[in-house]
Amino acid sequence: MNAQAPLLSIAGLTVQFGGLTAVDDLSFQVEQGRIHALIGPNGAGKSTTFNCISRYYNPTGGTITLAGEDITHHKASHMASLGVARTFQNLELFNELTVEENALLGTYSYGARRLGQILRRPNAEHRDHVHHLLERVGLIDFLDHKASSLDFGRQKMLELARALAIKPRLLLLDEPAAGLRNREINNLDKILSELSAAEGLTVLLVEHVMQLVMSISHRITVMSFGHKIAEGTPAEIRNDAKVIEAYLGKGSSQEAHHE
Ligand code: ADP
Ligand code: MG
Repeated sequence: MNAQAPLLSIAGLTVQFGGLTAVDDLSFQVEQGRIHALIGPNGAGKSTTFNCISRYYNPTGGTITLAGEDITHHKASHMASLGVARTFQNLELFNELTVEENALLGTYSYGARRLGQILRRPNAEHRDHVHHLLERVGLIDFLDHKASSLDFGRQKMLELARALAIKPRLLLLDEPAAGLRNREINNLDKILSELSAAEGLTVLLVEHVMQLVMSISHRITVMSFGHKIAEGTPAEIRNDAKVIEAYLGKGSSQEAHHE
């Protein structure tokens, strides 16, 4: 891979649902080691774009390139083995499994071993890695707790740890701060900033909580009605007249929950 090439490149992405064009000729690039946010008002096409990249939706047109490889038509089930991890806006944990087991399942894609074996006899390296991640997200004291017994904020942290367990080269986060309290958002901010700075993790983040987006993003792409209307650094986006008109100026509905 060319060191200068972007890790992820979206070119001319178009998605139509019947007569509706949800994403219209969208292009942007995510550079290696950067946190890149995709923001915009409801219905802008963010989730549709995210779902095309994670290969849950098939685009009507355009290309998606990961590290120089065209993945536009790859299967979603193939993405983890390419190093692309995602979290879900609506949690998708195994409720009856423990915290440790849920996180260990994330090692499946690079361990390439049978699930039962992973849970019964995880190898020491995988277990160490998972413990390190659970420590990082504040769940090390909950290893034996069932996922269903955790509060919402901790369940979201467990999803993050499971996604990180595949050692992703690209982490796709769909509204990771949604429903979190301010204290939890600050913690998420710290975790993602540290992973980015210390390990060069590359993140594509769809998020409504502007406090988090403006704090951790290196670059922001703004969508409205399927189009890209702006792109730049947080400072540039905050002062962009088109963005303020389409999105940021519309009051407090995008604010985080307060404790
Ligand atoms: P955002 O995530 O920015 O809020 P979405 O990508 O979810 O926006 O939606 C963009 C547009 O596409 C909306 O008008 C939405 O109703 C429509 N849409 C999204 N998913 C589907 C689908 N599976 N079928 C039909 N229309 C959809
Ligand atoms: Mg959405």
